[in-house]
Amino acid sequence: MADAARAHLIHIETDRRLGHEWDEWDGRPLANGGDFSAPPGLFFRYAALTICVAFAALATLLYLLTPRLALVHAALPAALAWTIAAGFAVAILWFVILLLSFYGGVPLVPEGLLERGPYLRLMNLSSLVARAFRRRDWVEHAAIDVYNALAERRRRRVGKGELLVLIPRCLSKQALDGVLSIAGRYDVPVFVATRGQLARRVIRERRPRAVVAVACERDMMTGLRDVAGRLPVLGLTMQLPNGPCRDALLDLDVMDRWVRALVGA
Ligand code: SF4
Repeated sequence: MADAARAHLIHIETDRRLGHEWDEWDGRPLANGGDFSAPPGLFFRYAALTICVAFAALATLLYLLTPRLALVHAALPAALAWTIAAGFAVAILWFVILLLSFYGGVPLVPEGLLERGPYLRLMNLSSLVARAFRRRDWVEHAAIDVYNALAERRRRRVGKGELLVLIPRCLSKQALDGVLSIAGRYDVPVFVATRGQLARRVIRERRPRAVVAVACERDMMTGLRDVAGRLPVLGLTMQLPNGPCRDALLDLDVMDRWVRALVGA
């Protein structure tokens, strides 16, 4: 009996092939059955904290270096202090624009200044702060939801051959069948991107004008950071009821809506 249990465990571990984002997973079931859904407000709270922490760190650094900077030029510490204060004011103004764009339903600035610009950096920095509070996956989920909401409001349209659907290797059979049926319905190509590097290669070779990508929150964060600045991407996160990197589920209705809207069917 013990041998059978061990054989079963060994089978699970070799078959699963964890993505490096999950290296530290201890094998226990994920919280809430691997569903990290969270309201946008959670991301906004962490994002505000992240901006404050970042500027507080800069101010502290300046305080510590002031005696040495004053030796270089007497006015240098004050000039840098004003620069940090101005940067903080700009960051707060931008954050208010982000909040108004999200809750007001209309993006107030071009995408390069919002979800495909500074937002991508803020998302990743907020994820680092959230890790300190063990809220990483929830904050990332909320951040990706906010990103998608802003990106959807741009109402982008592309030709069928110009859209690419990228899926991970960990989808359940049910989810995979659903994705293939949506792709078949709208006649768009699907690629399995087993790692970020491969996803980038497929994008380089196929040269799509938009991408619908599926991944867990952790993988999606790096994917959006690397690609979304250059190419419009919508990122669909998954539920992981059997732990990371295996039998993942996704919301096929959302994928159908996104693909239909992008190809204008
Ligand atoms: S997308 Fe799937 S295979 Fe890739 S790291 Fe996330 S759970 Fe693992």
